[in-house]
Amino acid sequence: MLSLTPMMKQYLEIKEKYRDSILFFRLGDFYEMFFEDAITASKELEIALTGRDCGQKEKAPMCGIPFHSADTYIAKLIEKGYKVAICEQVEDPSKAVGLVKRDVVRVITPGTVIDPNMLDEKKNNYLCCIFLDEKGYGLAYVDVSTGDFFTTEGILENVDIIDALFDELGKIMPTEIICNNFFYDNEIISSKIRQRFECMINTYHEWTFDLGFAEESIKRQLSVISLDGLGMRDKNYSVIASGALIEYLRETQKTSFYHINKINQYSSNNYMVLDVNTRRNLELTETIRGKTKKGSLLWVLDKTSTAMGGRLLKKWIEEPLLDKKSIEYRLSTVEYFVDNLILINDLRSLLKDVYDIERLMSKVIYGTCNARDLIALKNSIKVFPQIKTFLKDTGCEELIDISYKLDGLEDIYDLIDKSIVDDPPFSVREGGIIKKEYNFEIKSLREASVQGKEWLSKIEEQERIKTGIKNLKIGFNKVFGYFIEVSKGNIKFVPDYFIRKQTLANSERYITPELKEMEDKILGAEDKMVALEYQVFVNIRDSIAAEVKRIQDSGKIIAKVDVLNSLALSALNNNYIKPKINTNGFINIKEGKHPVVEKVLEEGLFVPNDTYLNNDESRVLVITGPNMAGKSTYMRQVALIVLMMQIGSFVPAEEADICIVDRIFTRIGASDDLSQGQSTFMVEMSEVANILNNATQNSLLILDEIGRGTSTYDGLSIAWAVIEYISNPKKIGAKTLFATHYHELTELENKLEGVLNYKILVQEKGEDIIFLRKIKKGGADRSYGIEVAKLAGVRGDVINRAYEILQDLEKRDESKPEIAISVSEKEIKENIHKSNNDLQLDLFNIKKSNLIEKIKDIDVEKLTPIDAINILYNLHEESKEI
Ligand code: ATP
Repeated sequence: MLSLTPMMKQYLEIKEKYRDSILFFRLGDFYEMFFEDAITASKELEIALTGRDCGQKEKAPMCGIPFHSADTYIAKLIEKGYKVAICEQVEDPSKAVGLVKRDVVRVITPGTVIDPNMLDEKKNNYLCCIFLDEKGYGLAYVDVSTGDFFTTEGILENVDIIDALFDELGKIMPTEIICNNFFYDNEIISSKIRQRFECMINTYHEWTFDLGFAEESIKRQLSVISLDGLGMRDKNYSVIASGALIEYLRETQKTSFYHINKINQYSSNNYMVLDVNTRRNLELTETIRGKTKKGSLLWVLDKTSTAMGGRLLKKWIEEPLLDKKSIEYRLSTVEYFVDNLILINDLRSLLKDVYDIERLMSKVIYGTCNARDLIALKNSIKVFPQIKTFLKDTGCEELIDISYKLDGLEDIYDLIDKSIVDDPPFSVREGGIIKKEYNFEIKSLREASVQGKEWLSKIEEQERIKTGIKNLKIGFNKVFGYFIEVSKGNIKFVPDYFIRKQTLANSERYITPELKEMEDKILGAEDKMVALEYQVFVNIRDSIAAEVKRIQDSGKIIAKVDVLNSLALSALNNNYIKPKINTNGFINIKEGKHPVVEKVLEEGLFVPNDTYLNNDESRVLVITGPNMAGKSTYMRQVALIVLMMQIGSFVPAEEADICIVDRIFTRIGASDDLSQGQSTFMVEMSEVANILNNATQNSLLILDEIGRGTSTYDGLSIAWAVIEYISNPKKIGAKTLFATHYHELTELENKLEGVLNYKILVQEKGEDIIFLRKIKKGGADRSYGIEVAKLAGVRGDVINRAYEILQDLEKRDESKPEIAISVSEKEIKENIHKSNNDLQLDLFNIKKSNLIEKIKDIDVEKLTPIDAINILYNLHEESKEI
């Protein structure tokens, strides 16, 4: 059997340790891939598959990419869901004895990307770790590109921890999840994860999910001796998830990542809970259909000037607050800017120069930044002292407080300013990046090099005069160094001391001893200078890295100021008002608008509407109205206005006095989950189940057409029962907007406390209808479905036939219930008052005495037809049982 070549042996030994990754194996200026990796990569990257002799009979499949364009290829592979292990030469090839040592220096996974080109600047990229057992879960997540690290946990007490975990994941939207086996092996959970989140999910070593190990892992990373100061005492689930996550980073990053220097432990009880469906239905950060930011609430509100502000605003929208004081703090800061609108633009022009210093700092820590990045950092922090003064001068208490916390970072500015040239080249290995005044040695080497070059042009001039060759010139290339070039026609004038080195088509190249002597001096100085400049650069980079915490903290403050300013600007642009917050449990909105629909429609076309909900007589609004009338828009607008208030934003209304809600639930539209084997109706019902199980009296419920996915009577009964349950304060008693086309539900206004009817008005004009978009008390009696179908362009002959069928159905319908109703109503009344018509009751097989017994406490005059039918039906059934 043939033995492998040494290089291939080395490759296979390394690959063995990184089986789940595509191994980029550095060979000279290329990253090569072999065997299975090569086959996969050539297909995914659309590059040629070749072969390489590996010491075996068959060649090893191989493909490669130039190292300088590796980022693009890595990005493609990561996007397609692969991990990439980067294997470099880890010793200087010129000093290596035998084969150059190689090792993996970093594993790049979807959750550990730091290259800004691979990331959306206004979105965090979260890597998430989940630990689950029978009693609870721990969740930790980190954005490696910014250093943000969070953790929370859920203990099985009264809530469904799996639902709670999914709610959190819906907020985080991780790009990668690592987890323990218990979590992964639960088929329902992991298929739900796969279904809902487009992310890589893998188990991680079981031994890392150990409390003792995790504690040590965290302590080592944060350089602390106890976890108590981190707010993690007794938070064992959080500790386990965080510890395992840190270990995963150690294994993949291979280098210190001390920009991750704080763990933010939080409780989901501090924020409004929004489940995945609600986030989607309210289109908070992306639209349902196109998954684009345009058309979402974030799109309307985002006027941030910095990437850091953009990410923070998204986080605020995803985590509405529950604490009145904290909301008021944000609102009053926004109000200050709104009242001093001239300052908004001043602040924006200061902020516009601030680069993404959070992501920049991770490049600094990883040692992948170049001198241009440091200049970007310098230009960013240049304005910090100005921003500090600006905030202080406002006189606004909240902003003054922020200004004290903002570090001006003057020392870091000075360091970069005096050391790095203003417009450095891209590469840090080719010199030209350090200011000569910063380092005496660099200064003298640079002078030597400059003098040498001046001397060269002198020689060129002298030789032209001496030889009389006017177009003689001195050139340089990497192979021959400096040379004198003479065109073919002038060769006859070349003197003896020119030594011929190279012949080209139209010229000859020569050297002279004098030229070579000078070359050594110039090149020697340049080599030294380049090496020294690099070293000086690394020192500067490291001293900036040592200040990472200060720089990160300042970045966070800048982000906050940016978001508050952005909320003020969108409030001004859109004529929003400052909402009041009440603790009396009511929501009173005057002339409210849907923030997105209003923007999309032509100015002035959106029709505003009022809303009043409380914990009393106006708890559940049953909203009826034709198709297309604006029911969904209205309900979402109420939810969005409440949510906007809780993030600290002004709201689209003329007046708003709103209580804080603990959760918003939505059940809107039909969404199939066929790949999970769930029908449309099944999905609808599981969403309803979730709401009934988790809503509280302080929740806001948006229920759009519950029960539509099944037969009319089944659906109506479900909708009816749901309203009964929700409106009952002993069961839930939540504030609810309930849109429906079951007009029968309007009867509930008279039956249940707290239920009121509202309808959205339309005007009939001949066969057409005009949408007025105005909501008013009362119930609608028709849905105008056929008229809307006509508007939608359904063919005339089908429409006409639909009218015919409708008439037919209505006739049939009239005959049935009305007979029943008239018989029942009439009979009940007659039999009670006159007691002389047993015949009709006989039809139902009902004894008069039973009937009288049944209704003795009821005011018969107020009985509705449905009540009457129910009573008669029950008696009829009872008689059958006897
Ligand atoms: P359906 O019962 O058929 O689901 P709907 O009553 O829920 O309809 P919406 O989907 O809310 O109706 O609204 C239909 C369209 O009407 C929206 O896309 C929007 O363009 C417009 N619209 C809704 N509300 C308003 C409003 N207040 N002012 C102006 N236009 C509105």
